[in-house]
Amino acid sequence: MNVVDFSKAKEERKPHISGALYCMGCNHEWTAVWTPGTTEFECPECKSMKGRGKYEVAPAPGSQVWTCMSCDNQLFNLLGDRVHCPNCGNSWGYEELT
Ligand SMILES: [Zn+2]
Ligand SMILES: [Zn+2]
Repeated sequence: MNVVDFSKAKEERKPHISGALYCMGCNHEWTAVWTPGTTEFECPECKSMKGRGKYEVAPAPGSQVWTCMSCDNQLFNLLGDRVHCPNCGNSWGYEELT
């Protein structure tokens, strides 16, 4: 009988992203591959769970990327009815960002 480990197979099919991480504890920087949604990482240097993404995970080439019309920032806080630019403080309606 051939037993298939479904949870393991599912784990391997998950999308993975790579990017730069840094450690809030010791400032060590490294790159890693992880599944989207992970926000805490173990620092390979000091072994604490203080590793955080540097927000340099690039979207796939060809993706539509929103850019703030005031400051060209591309990282936003998403609110219920609009997006807030944490760089310049302006907020925009979703329909304004094209
Ligand atoms: Zn560290
Ligand atoms: Zn802005």
